[in-house]
Amino acid sequence: MDGRPALSTLSPDELSPILAELGVPPWRGRQLTNALWHPGVVALHEVLQLPARLRARLDERVRFCTVDEAITTEADSGLTVKLLCRLSGGETVETVAMESPAHGGRRRRATVCVSSQVGCAVGCPFCATGRLGLRRDCTAAEIVDQVRVAGAALHARGLGPVTHVVYMGMGEPLANYDATVASVRTLAAGMGISPRRITVSTSGVVPAIERLAREGLPLTLAISLHAVDDPLRDRLVPLNRAHRLAALVDAGADYARRTGRRLTFEWCLIGGVNDRPEDADGLRLLARRTHAHVNVIPMNRIDGSPWGPPDSATTAAFLQRLQGARTTVRDTRGGTADAGCGQLRAALEERRELRGDGSLGPPRRGAAAGATR
Ligand code: SAH
Ligand code: SF4
Repeated sequence: MDGRPALSTLSPDELSPILAELGVPPWRGRQLTNALWHPGVVALHEVLQLPARLRARLDERVRFCTVDEAITTEADSGLTVKLLCRLSGGETVETVAMESPAHGGRRRRATVCVSSQVGCAVGCPFCATGRLGLRRDCTAAEIVDQVRVAGAALHARGLGPVTHVVYMGMGEPLANYDATVASVRTLAAGMGISPRRITVSTSGVVPAIERLAREGLPLTLAISLHAVDDPLRDRLVPLNRAHRLAALVDAGADYARRTGRRLTFEWCLIGGVNDRPEDADGLRLLARRTHAHVNVIPMNRIDGSPWGPPDSATTAAFLQRLQGARTTVRDTRGGTADAGCGQLRAALEERRELRGDGSLGPPRRGAAAGATR
């Protein structure tokens, strides 16, 4: 592992002595930090305001960016950019950037979907990341730097800057609590992305939700519900065996009360599993009781699972039954489409481009494009 501290999460008090030791005057230090948060800059050699010799000396002491863009694919005529980001040690995570042009009364936005862990210990059976098990946590800098790298990918295409961040890539953010909260604070302080424009999605780590409610951060909390009874949720989200549904809903409602933020319930809709009328009824009642927003995500098929989305008539009937609750259906280009849940990584792994230790092998021509559907 690289022992150099990550610049994006170094506090001014930690950076000052390093700069002083290198004889860097304060105005040069300001040039460095301005460049750090510039939307198009992710490598120290791109910081042309600084003399080359100083860049070389700085590079020995600090890491300007902790993730490398390894493979990039585009979808939706270039408005969605999917990145496989390589971390120190060779592991890779998925990051997705999505530009949404202004529409009706809504302003343009650019959303980045970040990964918080390499793999995930929760092991939901419909999720490609769950298959990996937990390989390691991401550091706060690695989460922040995914946003920087994805922002630079948008910038290079004449898009961005990043306005929103969702923690809906690989991993369970609340099982990596400290790094998640530190990264949110850094995104706000460094990139000016208000916590109000950041969504953390959780499978239901109840004590961490209770702690998050007391951080004083007005984050949007999305709870991956997927079931309204414990026996089904035990199957779909194995963490439910430790943190029961009633406790999860209470913690979510308390979070909403304390922060004044509307909760979101996510529902990965799986044909023949959680698409029954009684599932829709239970979800509608729960959403109305807690004033939550419902986000339905028709399941993306993953290799090795017999499950998939319901047919369109069943999906329509399910959505119809939710009437009375504020509901949206996730557009499938989003973070949880082919790239947000370990599916891009899984697709490449199958093509044997990822080595067994999680590092990236030499890319084969055309294989990255084949990873998208
Ligand atoms: N671990 C967190 C955040 C990452 S997953 C969580 O579970 O909330 C982000 C969202 O994608 C979750 O709602 C998750 O249930 C959903 N998801 C995972 N695999 C999916 C799939 N194959 N199809 C549709 N949604 C999926
Ligand atoms: Fe982990 Fe979320 Fe995937 Fe479940 S859905 S295995 S919690 S990343």
